[in-house]
Amino acid sequence: MTQFQTIKFKGFEAQVVARVTDGCDTGIVYLEMAGSESAVKAIWAALSSAEAKRSGTNGVGINANSVWVQKHTKYITLKSVLPNGQTVIGMLNPQATVTQRGGQFYLVALRNHEGPPPAFFSRLAISLAVPVKVEWASWLWKKGLEHGEYEYQKLIQTLTSDGHVVGYKVKASDTDAWLKLVQESIGFKVCERCNEVVKELIEHKTIIGRGMSYQREKVEMICQECSDG
Ligand SMILES: [Zn+2]
Repeated sequence: MTQFQTIKFKGFEAQVVARVTDGCDTGIVYLEMAGSESAVKAIWAALSSAEAKRSGTNGVGINANSVWVQKHTKYITLKSVLPNGQTVIGMLNPQATVTQRGGQFYLVALRNHEGPPPAFFSRLAISLAVPVKVEWASWLWKKGLEHGEYEYQKLIQTLTSDGHVVGYKVKASDTDAWLKLVQESIGFKVCERCNEVVKELIEHKTIIGRGMSYQREKVEMICQECSDG
């Protein structure tokens, strides 16, 4: 049986059904709580208040710990009522639904999911400045989780998660590392000039600099098309 944690604000209490957090600075990625309508609404209001938006926290706690929200962020609110009459409110960080090119993004998936969560590939493709193919999704997911020695260095970081969900932070901004993964993936290579993914690259040498003593050889690995052009 899952032991639910209690979330509190002043005299109000609710159960934490699910939670994903990304450190104190960025706070809640996802929080789902259940309880009486008045308690759940009061806690939600405290976490959505101007004070919480400005400072990151506003008197809401789980055990002795403050609950942190991401500053200056309007969370997406999901509300439902359970058959037993309890109110459930979910608060989702907008970075879990919106993908910006060249940025990081969050994924929140059911805990028992297998392989990449459904939205992984399409959001990675939007965010990444490297061309990727849908056939590589499982491989990129697996490698992204493994890449890097410590959890915070990983391209896909597993976030602290409780309850029925698990959260991930996908660092699509680290283009070089993703590029390497793509290159490794199935023996495909990426042209250093045009970023096209190709089977073979050609070593291209250019003499740069003027005068004998300044001359250097610049070596690039480029595609056939760039080599011809
Ligand atoms: Zn090229």
